Amino acid sequence: MPGFELFGDKERKEVQDVMDSGVLMRYGFDGMRNGHWKTKELEKGLSERVQSKYVHAVSSGTAALTVALASAGVGAGDEVIMPTFTFVASFESILALGAVPILVDIDDTLTLKPEAVEKAITPKTKVVMPVHMCGSMANLDALKAICNKHGLLLLEDACQAIGGTYNGKPLGSIGDLGCFSFDYVKTITCGEGGAMITNNQDYYENAHKYSDHGHDHMGNNRGAEEHPFLGYNFRISEMNAAVGVAQLARLDEFLVIQKRNYTILREALSNIPEVIFRTVPDGGEENYSFLNFFMPTEELAQVAHQELIESGVDGCFYWYDNNWHYYKKWEHLTNLKSLGKLPKDVQEALPDYSKADFSESDKWMSRNISCLIKLGWSEEETVARAKTMAEAIKASI
Ligand SMILES: *Cc1c(COP(=O)(O)O)cnc(C)c1O
Repeated sequence: MPGFELFGDKERKEVQDVMDSGVLMRYGFDGMRNGHWKTKELEKGLSERVQSKYVHAVSSGTAALTVALASAGVGAGDEVIMPTFTFVASFESILALGAVPILVDIDDTLTLKPEAVEKAITPKTKVVMPVHMCGSMANLDALKAICNKHGLLLLEDACQAIGGTYNGKPLGSIGDLGCFSFDYVKTITCGEGGAMITNNQDYYENAHKYSDHGHDHMGNNRGAEEHPFLGYNFRISEMNAAVGVAQLARLDEFLVIQKRNYTILREALSNIPEVIFRTVPDGGEENYSFLNFFMPTEELAQVAHQELIESGVDGCFYWYDNNWHYYKKWEHLTNLKSLGKLPKDVQEALPDYSKADFSESDKWMSRNISCLIKLGWSEEETVARAKTMAEAIKASI
């Protein structure tokens, strides 16, 4: 997955443009910037690449989620449905707005289970937020149908899945809103950065204002701009956007390498009858940033994972007991351990997740092993790795 592996001359050149003018801010300073508008360039390129009318780049993927939710009017007491397997950023962005994260089971896609989503809907539900974990997607047709039926918004967290598609459309562009992260370990990186995409002009207008202290961005005197509503600062810097411009131009090159390396590993493991690959919904194509598979039991998954580590295969994760990606270790959320007081809406409405039954999620996650696909591996290295992995897994059965 990580674009940082291929950081090079193209990225340096884009950053140098910014260094030469010294204009590190995305807004204003028109006369000083030698015609360089890196953030705008990143937004325009992304808009074409992901086939969305509006793109707004911000300081992180977490910021993108927060801004996306805010742009659609999500606020105190609103419920946002999210999966048990994701990154902590999902509930952080929801809580930042005083809204309530409603955790829901995943299925063998490793993303939201549509039937569980429908069961979790209440009069307070406003958004369904599938997270396309590890490069593959949720069943978006099913989720969209549920959202349409109940009048809810669909927000795709595509932070780990840029370049993947569903029915031929880029992930992130299918819901009402989509978000990407360009942090240092994502498929393409800005160092730190993110973006939200939408075809809804109102959400876009809200987003660029909200993420810049409410600035209306009218005219060319920043100090004289109006502030139609309260905002915040989630701006991305030109330095970070410059890296993103270079990396975005290389996205398709990265995807080809990922697919090649993924395919080599997958073919080697497909000869092992005990290994079952993660389900990709019909019409979906992964971005190949991870290879995910299930072992027959929790115990076999743990043994296989250990065996992989002992064979020197790095980058294979057992997310089931991971601190950052699975609800079981989120006791800071469960116990609402915040530095200051949280809004009453959150304190009163957050379900007691220590008592929740997520056995469906546990069933899949306890058997899952997830292997990162690197861009830096040569074909020979990947073939050797595939052989070692297959041997390690066979030895564990
Ligand atoms: C990385 C990530 C985020 C947050 O992105 P940052 O840029 O690190 O804030 C959100 N959701 C998912 C699924 C991610 O993997």
